[in-house]
Amino acid sequence: MASVDSTIQLIRTTGRDASGKRASACSPALAQAPWEFDGVTQYGPGSSMGDVIPAGSPRQGGLPVEYQRASADELHERILAAKAALGDRVVVLGHFYQRDEVVQYADFLGDSFQLANAAQTVPNAEAIVFCGVHFMAETADILAKPDQAVILPNLAAGCSMADMADIDSVEECWEQLEALYGTEPDADGRAPVIPVTYMNSSAALKAFCGRHGGIVCTSSNAETVLEWAFERGQRVLFFPDQHLGRNTAKKMGVPLEAMPMWNPRKPLGGNAGDDLLDAQVILWHGFCSVHKRFTVEQVEQARAEFPGVRVIVHPECPMPVVDVADESGSTDYIRKAVEAATEPTTFAIGTEINMVNRLAAEHPEHTIFCLDPVVCPCSTMYRIHPGYLAWVLEGLVAGETLNRIQVPDEVAGYARIALQRMLDAKPKS
Ligand code: SF4
Repeated sequence: MASVDSTIQLIRTTGRDASGKRASACSPALAQAPWEFDGVTQYGPGSSMGDVIPAGSPRQGGLPVEYQRASADELHERILAAKAALGDRVVVLGHFYQRDEVVQYADFLGDSFQLANAAQTVPNAEAIVFCGVHFMAETADILAKPDQAVILPNLAAGCSMADMADIDSVEECWEQLEALYGTEPDADGRAPVIPVTYMNSSAALKAFCGRHGGIVCTSSNAETVLEWAFERGQRVLFFPDQHLGRNTAKKMGVPLEAMPMWNPRKPLGGNAGDDLLDAQVILWHGFCSVHKRFTVEQVEQARAEFPGVRVIVHPECPMPVVDVADESGSTDYIRKAVEAATEPTTFAIGTEINMVNRLAAEHPEHTIFCLDPVVCPCSTMYRIHPGYLAWVLEGLVAGETLNRIQVPDEVAGYARIALQRMLDAKPKS
């Protein structure tokens, strides 16, 4: 199967994909080089382009012209040469949603937590080049040794979902909740509220959870983490992804009416105080623009075209989509489900298209396609291009550490507490 990038170029010139089928992309600007968007105040073309970048987000300065002008072959040679010169001094991490043109250089491929853990297994590497997004590089820095430099090749690779919950808004929310619920535990010793943050959040929010008796979760362990939180608290404040929070709590039997939404732009999150008294999970008004694209109609269409199709979606998808799918689970769950299928199977998958296309290429024995017929990669992940990778790697060869991500010590310390609580939380046997 052709890579997402080459498919986008084909669509631009022919309106068709590599198999000759009519195809479309969510933005014609996807065919442009990512450095055309450096310095702009938007995420760039792709799934998040309509979301607003917060004012304080890191900005990428211009990529030197020699990297912009270099051909794909030249960049390939330069990246290989830089990696060979650096040897064990550098390790390159690639996220499942990253473009193939970059993933080919990754020493480790995985989801955000697998990659943060991978960073801990290379204590001799002086630099960890994280081909993912900003919060992932922060987590790697928190878990890496102090003298290891974590590098994000393009600082514009943020995450629109993580950016939907900033520390000031969460602190304001917390003050309002304390005023409403008080700060004293109940007769069973349970705190009024336990904050739970998804891994896809800034280091400041992980530290907030560390300071306030809270915890981090991933899409693989969200249920275990919510159980942990309910043992210690009367209710949970879950941020930033409303969909993961809702889908997980619903599966655990929490009624929808006990899951009010918190809109940070409104007093009391847009709720009447009485509505919040019965809340069990308060859901932050955040979402992933990649997973928000999946719809019930797409599932129905896949079933109509491919009777017997196995539909698997990520729990960041809206609840109605998760409800009609055959299964839902993290990127790791999806990958393992495909690997475990012993008979040729048709899979319709609701997650980022680079990962779906890679699974399809790795498993020709199955028919695998993305539920969304429009080619629309994660726009922030897409900002990492071989040109930026060559730039930071050659910088290291020349003794220069470019685009280092450093979490301040006091933030990292509390964030580590919340991450450790997650690692210690065990599923009920
Ligand atoms: S896929 Fe969604 S959650 Fe993941 S990095 Fe992109 S915007 Fe963020």
